[in-house]
Amino acid sequence: MLDLWYTENWSKNTKFSIKIKEQLHSEQSEFQKIDFFISEEYGRFFTLDGLVMVTEKDEFIYHEMITHVPMATNPNIKKVLVIGGGDGGTVRELTRYNHIEKIDMVEIDERVVKLSQKYLPFTADKLTDSRVTLFFQDGLKFVDECLDESYDLILVDSTDPISVGEGLFTTEFYQNCFRILSKDGILVNQHESPYFEHFAKEMKKAHDKLKNIFPIAKVYQFHQPTYASGHWLFGFASKKLDPITDQKKEIWESFNLKTKYYNSDIHCGAFALPNYVKEKLEK
Ligand code: SAM
Repeated sequence: MLDLWYTENWSKNTKFSIKIKEQLHSEQSEFQKIDFFISEEYGRFFTLDGLVMVTEKDEFIYHEMITHVPMATNPNIKKVLVIGGGDGGTVRELTRYNHIEKIDMVEIDERVVKLSQKYLPFTADKLTDSRVTLFFQDGLKFVDECLDESYDLILVDSTDPISVGEGLFTTEFYQNCFRILSKDGILVNQHESPYFEHFAKEMKKAHDKLKNIFPIAKVYQFHQPTYASGHWLFGFASKKLDPITDQKKEIWESFNLKTKYYNSDIHCGAFALPNYVKEKLEK
């Protein structure tokens, strides 16, 4: 029997490995290297340029936390823009809200969507919802050219700020997001990790930029076992609403959504950061 392992570098001196049963697919798209695997421990998973994006076992954490925190801060959100998110997990969570009217998703790499629809139906199966419109283009360009200034929520479900994802961590991108958000608008973005130095540097840079543009710019944490160090962050930036003081607990709970990670206590608790993270963000 062959002993097959997927291994990725979490830092220069740390590696993370998953024993795999089978490699389902591998290709180099116009933008990145895309691989799909089956494993015993994490079920199906896929990687971009040698970094885990989504595993069947822990994707619920990321997708619930990116979606329900802003939705419980403003339960009137009707129009959403998702940037990246080609696996469909974020859109799946959004489609659970009957009152959301429109979801535009801008993914640079059509191959990620097509392959996720084939291999990851558990995340991708709501991409065909009638409220969803897919745009296959660069998110940076999309927001730059966008004339519609009425998105209530922008979710930046991006890769790290290397190669294609880089533009989604720039001041120009955040400024355009600010411009196309409605007056109660919220931006939530993939905000890297505080633990290993190279991720922490990007976390700090993103936070500094967002703080300069949005009146409210906070960071919240969640536990993602298959991302480097397992400790990951989202940024919460908004024109007016504060995720803690404006939390609409009762309204959100009245939606009766069954969640596996998110709840109204985690909503607040996630914003309580360890001292070393606060120091890194503030210094
Ligand atoms: N949950 C994931 C994580 O943080 O590891 C993110 C998953 S999602 C697959 C990230 C997606 O962002 C990828 O499919 C990638 O193609 C897309 N992406 C990267 N840069 C982009 C850009 N400039 N515009 C639009 N989509 C982009």
